[in-house]
Amino acid sequence: MTALRHMTHVLILSYILIMFINPVLGITVSHGRDGAFTSTNYNLDTSTALKDVSKLGDGTISQVSQLSGSGVNEISYQTSAKGNSVNSAIKSSGVLSAATSTTASGEVAFLSQDVAGSGDLAAVVQGKSDSTSTEQMNAVLNGHTSTSLNAFAGKDISTSGQSTTIFGDAGATSSSANSAENNMAVEGGFSGSGDLNTKLTTIAAERSGIYGTNSFNGQEVVNNKVLRGIASGELSVSADGIYEDREGDLGTYGVTATNILKPSQNKAVFATAGWRWANNVPIQYKLSTNLIGSSTGANAKLWAREISKGANEWDRNTAKNVFKGTDTSNTPGSTNVITFTSYVPEVGEYQGGTGNGKNNYMEVTKDLTDPTIAVTWTWYYTDVYVTGADGKRYKKAAESDVYFNGNMYWRVAPSQSTATNSKFDVRTIATHEVGHTLGLADLYGSGDKSKTMYGYNNGQVDWYLSYADKLGLWSLYGR
Ligand SMILES: [Zn+2]
Repeated sequence: MTALRHMTHVLILSYILIMFINPVLGITVSHGRDGAFTSTNYNLDTSTALKDVSKLGDGTISQVSQLSGSGVNEISYQTSAKGNSVNSAIKSSGVLSAATSTTASGEVAFLSQDVAGSGDLAAVVQGKSDSTSTEQMNAVLNGHTSTSLNAFAGKDISTSGQSTTIFGDAGATSSSANSAENNMAVEGGFSGSGDLNTKLTTIAAERSGIYGTNSFNGQEVVNNKVLRGIASGELSVSADGIYEDREGDLGTYGVTATNILKPSQNKAVFATAGWRWANNVPIQYKLSTNLIGSSTGANAKLWAREISKGANEWDRNTAKNVFKGTDTSNTPGSTNVITFTSYVPEVGEYQGGTGNGKNNYMEVTKDLTDPTIAVTWTWYYTDVYVTGADGKRYKKAAESDVYFNGNMYWRVAPSQSTATNSKFDVRTIATHEVGHTLGLADLYGSGDKSKTMYGYNNGQVDWYLSYADKLGLWSLYGR
């Protein structure tokens, strides 16, 4: 039995398909196993030589394909792993050589491709996951192309890249990234002989980004500075030019870079409470060990760690260090957001905070009653103001104290969950409460349920800021 199983395994791992085909007119090759799938479609000119080697393993497929020829050729590749897919397509009329490799393994699919040719040629690669997609395209009319392309897709992330040089009568490249928050794209093209050089990488995850350069006739038109500019808001930029080509004729070129926020995100609302902390004040809390055990005990350390993670979720979404410590440090101590105290503050008691980030207290207390899960008391100066990143005046915060209801049942949840639970997740509630400390107010609308600042919780676990929460944070402290 054991031997048989072993042999089956070896057979799967060593199944290799090799094709040497010349000439070919239309062939489709598909393989699939354990969530990994690949399909290739060739429509080749009789002059085109092809070598395609595919290897199949447990949940893994890899493929290497090389072809060269001339005439009219059309080739497409699709590779996916657990629904995350990469694909590419080439259409050419003229001299063509292409080397492609694809891999699908686990939840990840990857493709890289080098294409060179002359005549008319278009090449495109795409990466797609559930919530993201990216694409790179280039095309030339009566010219030459040399391009290196890649595409990657994993769980909720996809990337793609191209390094392309085009010379010809007309040409274009485009790069785009789509995510739940925004779409970014860079498109460039020319008419009248010229050359276009594109080196762009696109990344789509929670948010979309594009990095790199786009140059026309040696002149850099789009670079990281331009791309950072449009990414900082809902902005687009367009550069259009006219030039004299090598034959003395007039040509035109244009490059457009756009960033579009998704409509649902665009309407994202938040509410500020009226205060914020002064600039350069990292906030620190003293966590009372009353009711959660001694400062050296596991339970108190767990509370401190989970609260730190909540504070760090805000910190990592702004360049400003609003809470003391670094994003990766979730341990209590004088250099981090949480220190311990044996002092037992009374609910609503002013502890002498002066807005310097100190004398902020946290406590688990039985002095709160249902249905209050937790409450944050923030003290601020009546007539001292700090200007927010949005240009508005906010009252200067002096002290902020957070109280967790010790009559409720608390837990440290293992993962995000929309399910209700009779116990409250420490990190979820802490993330919400420290949002109050920063100066954000509760939201109670039916469209606010996925937001950290939503004012109700039934034991659900939500550790991450929504885009609206980030907009609120950025309005006070900047990005
Ligand atoms: Zn609240």
